[in-house]
Amino acid sequence: MFDLIDIGANLTHDSFDSDRDAVLTRAAEAGVARIVVTGTSVTASVQAAALCEARPGKLFATAGVHPHHAADFDTHTSSALRSLLANPVFVAVGECGLDFFRDYSPRDAQRRAFAAQLELAAEMRKPVFLHERDAHDEFVAMLKPMRAALAGAVAHCFTGGPKELDAYLELDLYVGVTGWVCDERRGAQLRAAVPSIPLDRLVVETDAPYLLPRDLERKPQTRRNEPRFLAHVVERVAALREEPVDVVAQATTANAERLFGLRS
Ligand SMILES: [Zn+2]
Repeated sequence: MFDLIDIGANLTHDSFDSDRDAVLTRAAEAGVARIVVTGTSVTASVQAAALCEARPGKLFATAGVHPHHAADFDTHTSSALRSLLANPVFVAVGECGLDFFRDYSPRDAQRRAFAAQLELAAEMRKPVFLHERDAHDEFVAMLKPMRAALAGAVAHCFTGGPKELDAYLELDLYVGVTGWVCDERRGAQLRAAVPSIPLDRLVVETDAPYLLPRDLERKPQTRRNEPRFLAHVVERVAALREEPVDVVAQATTANAERLFGLRS
């Protein structure tokens, strides 16, 4: 039985409203002992805190504003996040970063929200939970001067290749791998990079309800991803790295504990 930590699941998503308890029970039965719930807005972060408080020691959360919602980041947002982060259920600032693929918020708003959250993470001495898509160079340029002031950082849902990986490792980031790795076609460059992630920098996540692994042997009835499928992701990662699955499982758990300051 695994003892895994899903470092990124969007458990406040409304697709879980009807059966969230059952989802968590199935996750525990599948060896996913702890989950970090992703905060994507102030409202979602408040909801995440309520989930965590009902399940102490099992659920933790991040508090932040996703680049998709960066247009909503105003003068009150930093102080709202600061007061949320005083709650010990919050183990990181984020998710925050840049997403120039979807561009749901104007790029200038994304830059401002990202910069403000990096400052907040440094001030609060919390690690950052980072999102980057199609914005690699600018993301690195913004992160680099702040990196020394940050308690820790993880590039969540890494989908890049060896070149992007090198840049992230140079910034001493942890690297979050999702079920994207199970997609032979779309995940080709990630699959090429996975063997090069140092074992002490590797963390795993489902990004549920998104990114259902494509190669599940028993397909669920819907496309909704759940934390219980994390064990499958770990098996695929271990196979690509040609390492025993329990070695990878234990390392990712120890890494997540170190990154987020969780008790082992
Ligand atoms: Zn993300």
